[in-house]
Parts: sequence; C-alpha cells; structure tokens
Amino acid sequence: MKLMEEKILSEGKVLPGGILKVGSFLNQQIDTVFLGEMGREIAELFKDCGVTKVLTIEASGIAIAAAVGMAMGVPMVFAKKHKTSNVDGAVYASTVHSFTHNTDYRIVVSSDYLLPGDKVLLVDDFLANGNALKGLMDLVRQAGATLVGVSAAIEKGFQGGGDELRRLGVKVESLAVIDAMDDTSITFRK
Ligand code: 5GP
Repeated sequence: MKLMEEKILSEGKVLPGGILKVGSFLNQQIDTVFLGEMGREIAELFKDCGVTKVLTIEASGIAIAAAVGMAMGVPMVFAKKHKTSNVDGAVYASTVHSFTHNTDYRIVVSSDYLLPGDKVLLVDDFLANGNALKGLMDLVRQAGATLVGVSAAIEKGFQGGGDELRRLGVKVESLAVIDAMDDTSITFRK
C-alpha cells in the first residue's frame, strides 16, 4: 500500500532497538480516515476467503482490526492480555513473548467468541518476530476454528516473523513491509 509507505516516511520515527514509532496515526493518535482505508485494503486482500471473524490482541491491534471487521461486515474479537496465569471460565489461552517490552504475557479469549466453524483472519498493527500472531494462531487452533490468514499494517521484514509464517503456508498480507531501517532511512520491500 503506497499510502502506508508514504505515511511511514512522513510521520514514522525510528527509535533505538529497532522500534518504529507511529503514534501520530496508528498507535496513540489515530488517523481515522486513513484507518478506514487500511481496513478496506485488508478486507479487499481477503475478500474471497469466507472470513467470519477478525481476531487481534488488545490494545494496539483493536483499531485496525475493527476497521477490517467493519469493512468485511464481520465481528472483531480481541484477546485480552493477562499478566497472571489465573484465568477463570471457559477460555482459550496462550503465552506470548513481547518484542517491545521483552516480557512474557498471557492472552485469553472467551470460548464464546471463537467457534469451531469460524474462519478467522488475524490482524495486528505490527508484525515483527511473529510471536503475537503465533499466540493468536494457537487460540484459533484450540477453538478448532480455521485460520484464513494474517495481516499487519506494518511488517518489519528484517525480523523474519512474516516470512516464517509464509514458509509455513500461511497467507500473510502486510500493507507495508520494511526490509531495513535506521534513524536516517527506511527501505521497503518491493
Ligand atoms: P511480534 O510479536 O511480531 O514480535 O511483535 C508484534 C507486536 O509487538 C505488535 O503487536 C506490536 O504492538 C509490537 N511491536 C513490534 N514491533 C513494533 C514497532 O516497531 N513499533 C511498535 N509501535 N510496536 C511494535
């Protein structure tokens, strides 16, 4: 998505440790018009896949996943993050290693909202090492639902998570793939 690349170049800021800050349009302030365009673009990429649900993780995935759900006319579900492993009720749970905070956290989703017949599209703001999406894939597997594919607004290709999922046969569509970045330049995958 050319527009995403332009937005990253004009508003993104590369921080030490390989973090791209996009707080001005995706992570804290949200460019709502652009959000709608992202949602429609991702919906178009998966339009023939029979998606019944969009799944993400709180908090930063919610906006874009909701935009995709709205564009597709299907519900959006977000897994909640829990620091402890004490989770009550009928839930699916998995553990995710956070790239940005270098800690492990649990993600849980009620079994009411992920059903065996669901065809699930995973959506997140960033795809880096792929741990967040692998945790969500684990929830989909536990539910007996079908994984349709994954989509991220921004994939940091140099961390390899997206390509690892592609090698496993998962349909991965990111709106922009960054192959290299430092504080002076950002290179996108062609
Ligand atoms: P992964 O699990 O693929 O390594 O990392 C994905 C998660 O980490 C995303 O949900 C996102 O919130 C966060 N993340 C990873 N890299 C970045 C980054 O460069 N910038 C921001 N803002 N978040 C990131």
